[in-house]
Amino acid sequence: MDSEQPKEIVLDGIAASPGVAHGSAFVILQKELEIPVYEIPVKQLEHEKERFEKALLEARRQIAEIRHEISGRLGENEARIFDAHIMVLEDRALIEETLREMEDTAYNVEYCFREVSNRFIEAFEALQDDYLKERVKDIEDVSRRVLQILLGQTQRNLMELVSERIIVSEDITPSEAASFDKRKILGVVTDSGSRTSHAVIMSRSLGVPAVVGLHNASEQLDNDDYILIDGYDGVVIINPSEETLFRYGELKSERQNIQRVFETSALLPATTADGHRLEIGANIGGPEDCDAALEHGAEGVGLYRTEALFMQQDTFPDEDEQYKAYSKVAEMLAPHPVILRTLDLGGDKHLSDFFVQNENNPFMGFRAIRFCLEHRDLFKDQLRAILRASASGNVKVMYPMISNAEELIAANLLLEEAKAECRAKGQKFDENIQVGTMIEIPGAAYICDLLAEHCQFFSIGTNDLIQYLLAVDRVNDRIAHLYEPNHPAVIRTLKMIIESANRHGIHVGICGEMAGDPIYVPLLFGLGANEISATGTVLPEIKYLIRKMKLADAQMLAQEVAKLTDPHAIHSALTKFYEAQMRGVLEQVD
Ligand code: PEP
Ligand code: MG
Repeated sequence: MDSEQPKEIVLDGIAASPGVAHGSAFVILQKELEIPVYEIPVKQLEHEKERFEKALLEARRQIAEIRHEISGRLGENEARIFDAHIMVLEDRALIEETLREMEDTAYNVEYCFREVSNRFIEAFEALQDDYLKERVKDIEDVSRRVLQILLGQTQRNLMELVSERIIVSEDITPSEAASFDKRKILGVVTDSGSRTSHAVIMSRSLGVPAVVGLHNASEQLDNDDYILIDGYDGVVIINPSEETLFRYGELKSERQNIQRVFETSALLPATTADGHRLEIGANIGGPEDCDAALEHGAEGVGLYRTEALFMQQDTFPDEDEQYKAYSKVAEMLAPHPVILRTLDLGGDKHLSDFFVQNENNPFMGFRAIRFCLEHRDLFKDQLRAILRASASGNVKVMYPMISNAEELIAANLLLEEAKAECRAKGQKFDENIQVGTMIEIPGAAYICDLLAEHCQFFSIGTNDLIQYLLAVDRVNDRIAHLYEPNHPAVIRTLKMIIESANRHGIHVGICGEMAGDPIYVPLLFGLGANEISATGTVLPEIKYLIRKMKLADAQMLAQEVAKLTDPHAIHSALTKFYEAQMRGVLEQVD
């Protein structure tokens, strides 16, 4: 019996979202297709043509089915891209040229079809017309589908996630993640990515484990392979043995028991053992995250990533649609504060494949506030929606990616225009709405004094700050080891920003993923931060920690860490402090 048990294979990656899960893999194929090439005897040519016809019909059937499903789930607008796919399939030129290629070369249909579609792709790519250039994606997509049918492979799409599975992919774009049926996801495994890629942030907000940076897991795994993922240590085990499953079962239940202890603190105030009340907010993507955030003990929203609503659809949501979402969040959280961050598109956050801007350095490109200041009408739609929502609760507005004071001043001017427009329509809003700036660009960190003149609060986005400070692309797995929150430059920069904010009487929070990793929480408060904001699921642990620690000790820790020069020494000082506070949690677990 034992000899039939397939061999267990262990893959090491980056732990991106905690938890243990096991189940069947759902592999989203992205890899290059291997196309065989061989000669077809003349008498078999007709048969080869028939294979081609059948594959085209099957592709048409698949596309029509997906179109129907998407139209039902996401609406007609989103479904329309599949009409373009059907048009490619019905393109006589593509079909006839493939048939001719088969006759002329006597090669197999896969090879001929690939050759012909590549020629079409090249011809379209060379065109000046942007609309026609965009058709390249349709041809690529359709050609891949037809080739996979010819090769007997099934093309998976995210909508086919009918049972609970672990998603395995080369990468998951934020817009793909937005279209998952989230109830069916047991865990996420990606070849690329790092702890701060947006797909990972979403996994964490769903509370499902994720392991990323596995380089080639999607090639090693096939659909329905049974796998186990350990999001604590960043390990994926293919074909886990009974013994492994048992061992991880024990680990999982131990972690669940610890989590239960943490949850006893969730609804208690975040007051340190020496009596200081600290502010703890949640990072959310929309109204759907609010119940969980409140259950986990959020006392406000420190970061509402408003782009999530934009990424769920192909068109920009209008002012009323935005107002509906924002005011719902404001109402659900009232009287707690809700910080609405204005649109932060760009980098790895695209509206859909059709809106991808071709830039060499998208993270340093036309994103966030840069995009908004050039699309003023769109930006003002959002500002008016935010202002109107401020009548329903305690709403603040915050701008992302500010790199100089001029951008902040320009954004504020548009906010004033939006206020005037609301006034003219008799719409209620908070006249004294507080304005904040994300500090996530090193240049902004150096001019906190100048920025402080034009806003009331700062929020430090450590995800981008670290990427720009260390010149490490936050989603590139090849250099993920260089993405180092314990780098002394990161600690010094955080200290500089927080001290400057304190000096200027500006409220300062941290909303990047560093704030969601409990080992950094004492450091951040010890440096003088007023607030941290993190994914809801981690808040009970953070509150438990805060209620155990003394702020005075955290301040001493911060002083000690600021003097250290070695990332390992910094990490071990922080871990030691964390473990000392958490001692005892295990005794409470039966
Ligand atoms: C950040 O950069 O730290 C941040 C919170 O913003 P985002 O992750 O959405 O870029
Ligand atoms: Mg950012």
